[in-house]
Amino acid sequence: MRIKLLGASAGGGFPQWNCACPNCSGARDERKSGGSRRRFQERTQSQLAVSADDRAWFLLNASPDLRFQIESFSELHPKSQAGGTRHTPIAAVVLTNADLDHVLGLLLMRESQPIHIYATASVRKILTEDNTMYRMLDQKHGQVKWTDILPGQSFELVSVQGERSGLHCLPLSIDSKYPIYVSPQALPRLDPQEAVLGLVIREGEGSRQKQFAHLPGIRELDENWRKRISECDLVFCDGTFWEDDELKKASGAARTSREMGHIPMSGPAGSIEVLSRLKRPRKVFTHINNTNPVLDETGEEHAAVLKAGIEVGKDGMEFKL
Ligand SMILES: [Zn+2]
Repeated sequence: MRIKLLGASAGGGFPQWNCACPNCSGARDERKSGGSRRRFQERTQSQLAVSADDRAWFLLNASPDLRFQIESFSELHPKSQAGGTRHTPIAAVVLTNADLDHVLGLLLMRESQPIHIYATASVRKILTEDNTMYRMLDQKHGQVKWTDILPGQSFELVSVQGERSGLHCLPLSIDSKYPIYVSPQALPRLDPQEAVLGLVIREGEGSRQKQFAHLPGIRELDENWRKRISECDLVFCDGTFWEDDELKKASGAARTSREMGHIPMSGPAGSIEVLSRLKRPRKVFTHINNTNPVLDETGEEHAAVLKAGIEVGKDGMEFKL
């Protein structure tokens, strides 16, 4: 299978529109100078795409930068068909939660194009019952096909036309935290187990089996996840923050990294400590917030991540398993 990292930033992107932190200002300064990038690579908001056959592509979440990300990757461009000019190689979308940086891209895919969306019933309810704009995905009868997924139950990824992919997805419950925009009236109808998922995508069986994990938001890499990741060939891990109180320092935010559902990279039980001990998988940080010092490629934090055997994800990286 082929996996494309289309966006490696957390919500807000890098640089973020209202941020003048050393990273965001540094990235803008390098852009203005017009020379080659020595310290900062700009990044769009978190997005992955995966394909088993180079023909049907499955999106893991739907980023607000999706339109730009599709244009940046020719495999996702429409091909003109005998029946007309409207087409997309995007076969379906799998949602890990209802965070805006994971679902806003769905609204960019509303041009009467049939679309298949996998999500937990709770996430589907938030989008379709609590947010009327998502009815734009269902202007024509049968335009959107929602498939409810259950934590712990593996399923094969199938296109909106019903074509099987040979890719199997195991969603696992990670967190019970719903986005703060969800109305209090909606909360009682939502299952805490369905709030935030990690995904394990698998192709093949036995000795030919390949699999990777996608964990854009995880509070703790506990024993279960350590074991699960150690069986994978590749892991995309939550790289939102370097330290637990990073956003407090940067913007006076009230909550710590862990309180926001993101394991920090540094410190005891941080993601660097845990991931560096896992031998088998290739390890890539994604969902990197603009305040994270690892974005400075000349800094000691960036060097520490590389030294631990982990890569700092960048837009456009491609992986073959
Ligand atoms: Zn910033």
